[in-house]
Amino acid sequence: MTPTAYFTTSVPVEIIVAAGYKPVDLNNRFISDHNPLSLVENAESLGFPGSCCAWIKGLYSVILKLDYEKKRTKEDVFIAVTEGDCSNAKVLEEIVSVKTKLKTFLFGYPASRSTHKVNSEMKRLASFLGTTLERSEQIRKDMKPLREKLAQLDRLSYLYPGLITGFENHSWLVSSSDMNGDPEMFQKELDVFLNEVETRKKNWNCPPKVKKIGFLGVPPIIPVHEFIQEKGGVVIFNEIQREFSMTGNHSSLAKQYAQYTYPYSARFRFKKALNEVKKRKIDGIVHYVQSFCHRQIEDMILRDMITEENLNIPVLTIEGDKPLGSIDGRLSTRIEAFLETI
Ligand code: SF4
Repeated sequence: MTPTAYFTTSVPVEIIVAAGYKPVDLNNRFISDHNPLSLVENAESLGFPGSCCAWIKGLYSVILKLDYEKKRTKEDVFIAVTEGDCSNAKVLEEIVSVKTKLKTFLFGYPASRSTHKVNSEMKRLASFLGTTLERSEQIRKDMKPLREKLAQLDRLSYLYPGLITGFENHSWLVSSSDMNGDPEMFQKELDVFLNEVETRKKNWNCPPKVKKIGFLGVPPIIPVHEFIQEKGGVVIFNEIQREFSMTGNHSSLAKQYAQYTYPYSARFRFKKALNEVKKRKIDGIVHYVQSFCHRQIEDMILRDMITEENLNIPVLTIEGDKPLGSIDGRLSTRIEAFLETI
């Protein structure tokens, strides 16, 4: 059985594949569970505080569930990203290593974004998994056509608003963090989807008075995309999900992960995001923040940067806590009112 590398947020998936592990982003496992809320509640019943981000609780319960269902092997590993993500992941790593005996590894994105330091960190990960960066570079090259197809999907999303729904764009790009555990199969499924999109294109007409929305912030724990669509908005940009897909043109693995904005400073992240907002001629920004997440504070930086850049674009900041499967009344009213102002 292929051993699995579980991780808490995007890490260089090329290294995991080069080492012969199956990549699994625990966030994707958690949110696609048939009852993610029960996973959060389970972690709370084991002692996680109510005032802790629901993603961390969900991730922990996913690991326990895999143990319970005997779906783990002795060779599986757990990679926690502690620099560039959040300190909760550090504590999660300690708990996981004690409670589950999984072999763990701490990965850190250097705040300086120096390619030299990113390279050293990746070397450490490669050595932990029993592979080399040379082999991983080859995997990066092999994955290029797949990443180009994800870029094509993303381009079509804004060139033809509504051709690909905001949720479809979100779903494909967010899944690229672990390629659904099987890059080859993921690419085949993406080919099928892109063929279907080509068929849709023949009947595509630009929706009248289209409201083009940019979705900034971490992937949501509640179904925001579906709700925006239902109320007449079209999400044509998913910021962090697009970052996961690493669709830029990079000459090395170190450069690719030094340009990936998510783990670095908020200003670096928003600079790139606002360039996309301008390029895609977005009408309104929805900034999603997660309850009890330090990234909530970054909302102030985003708003300052919008003012600095003289961007006359309305912003709605929304917050999600637990995976409830629907949007509550207060939030739905706020989103509706926001869309009406556009
Ligand atoms: S949403 Fe924020 S607090 Fe929660 S796991 Fe992600 S970075 Fe950490």
